[in-house]
Amino acid sequence: MNRDSILLGLIGEGLDLSRTPAMHEAEGLAHGAATVYRRIDTRGKRASGRELKTLLDAALALGFNGLNITHPFKQAIVPLLDEVSEQAQQLGAVNTVVISPEGRTTGHNTDVTGFARGLEEGLPQAKMDTVVQVGAGGVGNAVAYALVTHGVRELLVADLDSTRAEALAAEINKAIGREAVRGVDARGIETSIAQADGVVNATPMGMLAHPGTAFDTACLTPAHWVADVVYMPIETELLATARALGCQTLDGTRMAIYQAVDAFGLFTGLEADASRMRETFLSL
Ligand code: NAD
Repeated sequence: MNRDSILLGLIGEGLDLSRTPAMHEAEGLAHGAATVYRRIDTRGKRASGRELKTLLDAALALGFNGLNITHPFKQAIVPLLDEVSEQAQQLGAVNTVVISPEGRTTGHNTDVTGFARGLEEGLPQAKMDTVVQVGAGGVGNAVAYALVTHGVRELLVADLDSTRAEALAAEINKAIGREAVRGVDARGIETSIAQADGVVNATPMGMLAHPGTAFDTACLTPAHWVADVVYMPIETELLATARALGCQTLDGTRMAIYQAVDAFGLFTGLEADASRMRETFLSL
């Protein structure tokens, strides 16, 4: 690719608060390349009403080097690509599309690799035999896949919508070829958490608009590790409670930053500086 300039974009719905454009623009510039990262928002004036394929074709025609793909297109983009990494293919979801100079598209999933890197770095000694994940939505899918492909032997997934938890379990078990994930009832999930090594919140609970926790934290002990995908705020009620108890914790920023670090590497072939991208992320 032409390293003199980098042209990237994010296709999704409701992108105003995304910190990903700023992370890529600052990182590209730090590598000496003028970098433009556009929000292609299907709720915005220009892209609304356009088919995903039309937007992808436009990016190809305009010489984009890559795209991130977010809600609600992570699954729909898969069949539109020339090639998809084995991991993204198994999960059936792509968040990063690399576009070659010839216009060939390759899909990857850096939500998975990003969460896994955060886990390895933030909870290096954590016991991973049995883990409970609460929340089986878009982020929960990538998190569950990352957990069971990075050491978790048994993953129990609960969601207020039990069909989602069961569907996620079936999909991931099929993808990895073993019965590692089980959908369980969200009611009384505290009993399972009490017996687990760690717990991951993959629900919006803890955000300013969704205060509180997704389960009763009285079931936690200092032996648990606790991870949250929510990063606004960084210190959720769940993490604050867990920390006060003495639990090891992992906040949502690592996933958000490492998905961008990994995507930048794929887009440019350059190694992103994770601490610099973190600085940009936290400055916003
Ligand atoms: P989603 O709406 O697709 O899924 C959320 C799921 O949580 C739903 O299935 C819902 O039924 C379930 N849920 C909600 N409250 C619950 C409760 N009390 N108990 C059990 N289940 C409950 O949302 P998503 O796209 O998966 O995003 C989830 C959160 O992840 C967002 O709110 C955001 O804060 C965070 N997020 C983090 C990153 C990151 O990189 N760290 C990236 C995107 C989003």
